[in-house]
Amino acid sequence: MMASCPVCNKYNFEEDFDLCPICLWQHDRIQENEPHFAGGANDLSLNQFRAEWLRQNAISVSKKTAYQPA
Ligand SMILES: [Zn+2]
Repeated sequence: MMASCPVCNKYNFEEDFDLCPICLWQHDRIQENEPHFAGGANDLSLNQFRAEWLRQNAISVSKKTAYQPA
């Protein structure tokens, strides 16, 4: 059964421990069932990883909109 990435929702995992090429979350069913559990396939818990990914995306978006060519 395919599972979509719980972090970015833009990638469908094909097998356990598949790596999402978009946000680099590694598919770990234990961590996905226990979003506070850190130290599985991913060093961060799912909640931490998602928060970090959203923060980085927000920074890259704000950099893009802030950039003003002379
Ligand atoms: Zn992802």
